[in-house]
Amino acid sequence: MEKILVSACLMGDLVRYDGGHQQLVNKTFEQWQHEGRLVKVCPEVVGGLSTPRAPAERVLKDNLVIDVSGKDVTHAFTRGANIALSICLEQQIKYALLKDSSPSCGSNTIYDGRFTGSKISGVGLTTELLRQHDIEVYSENTVLLLAEKLTHNEKKFS
Ligand code: SF4
Repeated sequence: MEKILVSACLMGDLVRYDGGHQQLVNKTFEQWQHEGRLVKVCPEVVGGLSTPRAPAERVLKDNLVIDVSGKDVTHAFTRGANIALSICLEQQIKYALLKDSSPSCGSNTIYDGRFTGSKISGVGLTTELLRQHDIEVYSENTVLLLAEKLTHNEKKFS
């Protein structure tokens, strides 16, 4: 049975920068949880940031993560990404389901680095690192695609 690395906020943990969560309500997701497939992590929290914390965005042109006060928080984000990768490598996890648009977990879009509320195509630091190690990253918007992939794999190897 394939395990899936999951953004802790999608499982209802109060780890978002604003102290909230982003609980994913989805039958397939609930089934995976019931099966014990889900391994949760919040890269920003394990990277050493507190909750709540100042919102942060990637500044792609400088390869930095900056919070809204202008503080460089790249080190904590990088540390969190490395811990997420270590979890995957230790537990042989090849799939992740991460919250889109986050500067850590985004897999399709991120905010544009100017704190204007505008999104651009891009990925978070954790997603980038996981993909560099051939871990497939999906989001709350592509649960069905991940489900199809797992079903296909499990039929192939059964
Ligand atoms: S870093 Fe990822 S898991 Fe943590 S709150 Fe942000 S989106 Fe959720």
